[in-house]
Amino acid sequence: MKFGGTSVGDASCIARVAQIVKDASSEGPVVVVVSAMSGVTNWLIEAATESERGDREPAAALFEALRQQHDAALAALIQSKERRAQIAARMEAIFVEGERLCKGTALLRELTPRTLDAVSSLGERLSAPMVAGAMEELGVRSESVEATELIVTDPYHGGADPVMDRTRQRCTALLQPMLQDGVVPVVTGFIGATEDGVLTTLGRGGSDYSATILGAAMDAEEIIIWTDVDGVLTADPRLVAEARTIPEISYREATELAYFGAKVLHPKTLRAVVKQGIPVWIRNSFSPEKNGTKITPKGRTNGGGVKALTAIKDVTLISLGGPGIVGVPDVVGRTFSTTAEVHANVLLISQSSSQNDICFIVSSADARRTVDALRKEFAQDVRHEKVEHITVDAHIAIVAVVGENMRGTPGVAGRVFIALGQENVNIIAIAQGSSESNISFVVAEQDMKAALVATHREFGLGSAATHDRRVTVS
Ligand code: ASP
Ligand code: MG
Repeated sequence: MKFGGTSVGDASCIARVAQIVKDASSEGPVVVVVSAMSGVTNWLIEAATESERGDREPAAALFEALRQQHDAALAALIQSKERRAQIAARMEAIFVEGERLCKGTALLRELTPRTLDAVSSLGERLSAPMVAGAMEELGVRSESVEATELIVTDPYHGGADPVMDRTRQRCTALLQPMLQDGVVPVVTGFIGATEDGVLTTLGRGGSDYSATILGAAMDAEEIIIWTDVDGVLTADPRLVAEARTIPEISYREATELAYFGAKVLHPKTLRAVVKQGIPVWIRNSFSPEKNGTKITPKGRTNGGGVKALTAIKDVTLISLGGPGIVGVPDVVGRTFSTTAEVHANVLLISQSSSQNDICFIVSSADARRTVDALRKEFAQDVRHEKVEHITVDAHIAIVAVVGENMRGTPGVAGRVFIALGQENVNIIAIAQGSSESNISFVVAEQDMKAALVATHREFGLGSAATHDRRVTVS
């Protein structure tokens, strides 16, 4: 069971988590994975970045605030004086470590990826002992474990991946005996360590990935990601009032949604469980009576083949074109080596068969440096009028229609575009991969909501007809 930042956001949330784990652990062994208290990782990263500028104040202030926040939670959660003192001492050591790292960064005015990982990991290292303590308060034997002891990773700081066979060995050696003893391990999410013991992180939001890595390593029966929403929804409920929880979706659909901005899951989460086919649940720790969404290898089919919609708007459309690029074989190659060089993440690509124009989308944060690099790369071609324009539009959004069973279902695209036409939504670009489980289109940002509402209605995604009323025991 993994609990996200909001699920461990304060003392009362942590108490709720402890109760959920207590109930589950009476039925079978449970391994818990926790995130940092919500917001903490952001602050830590900010403190590290400010320190790099040589400014020591922000980090000092931050650690003060973090101490207060964690002390308050601890005081509210743990009645036993002895236990509280033990956890407090452990936390204090972590705060001191963080302060040292930030001071060192400020002195050197250099923040290495390794140091950034060490600082960003502190939140999980603080929350895990607290959650374990809260369990003990309820009479459940529990111990916190740092994932640096369990998850062996490659050395890619800020986005490490596990070395599974080594991780499996460590989990068997360390966690299995705890479970046999009736102890609930509470593992820090988000982090791991290289074979040499250097701490790494799995990327922002990586605690979900920690949960599936550990679940796979332990051959778990199921993995439950407890969060603050009811599950995977058919659309963002802030934009589409009729959005509802999807009872069951496939690994692939969930992954498509994760890549396209539905922030329920870290995009790599399901990678770890594909081989074993372990089901992954998304459930709401604030409403544990609800079923949530079950993510399974194949999912379950529903009528139209469309399962969910998602949209992202912090993206920028870049297009490059002109008559001179027709039939020039290296334009596409040069374009995307340029985006690769500046590490721009390309979310969508579309090129018409007339080859007059290539357009693609990057996150807005990457847009400036991508365009600068392209203008440099194609400077000669622009001068010789081979390339006529490199244009940028930041006021757009990508809407993605996701569903594995759209594959081989004719007419889905037609229905989407007719529905949009009726709402007067203009489509700027379209892309569908050959996997056919995602049709994405680009619209003006101001049309995004209308596009979602219209498509949602067209496929009846809000109707209760496909709703699952099964009661789930987890
Ligand atoms: N605390 C980390 C983050 O905020 C990891 C996680 O919450 O999943 O990115
Ligand atoms: Mg998360």
